[in-house]
Amino acid sequence: MKTVTETLAHPRLKREMRLQNAMITMYCKQHHVYQGKVCRECDRLQQMTARKLAFCESGTEKPTCATCTAVCYTLVVSKQVKTIYRWGRARVWLRHPILMSLYLIDSIKPSQMPKPKLLNL
Ligand SMILES: [Zn+2]
Repeated sequence: MKTVTETLAHPRLKREMRLQNAMITMYCKQHHVYQGKVCRECDRLQQMTARKLAFCESGTEKPTCATCTAVCYTLVVSKQVKTIYRWGRARVWLRHPILMSLYLIDSIKPSQMPKPKLLNL
């Protein structure tokens, strides 16, 4: 089994991880106590998002997390990630325009994800 670092060596996943980390870092600098590195809570969030990205069941063919239909975060973490994304999506254009442009191109690629299975209730 590959490690997180080995899996995230794939260029597309690496780009997405860099963008996620950039947004979390920008958010932490504005909202938390940033002392040369992100706070403990944001560090934990960066590690968790990297793990989720690396071990997504769709592997390197996964859609970007924003367009993915799989549910991999708990409700609390999902809310945290969405808050950071909403706050950072416009701001990240100013700091990382190339990375954000590549992310948008990745977002419009057709998804390789299978449709979510309906629950038999
Ligand atoms: Zn923080």
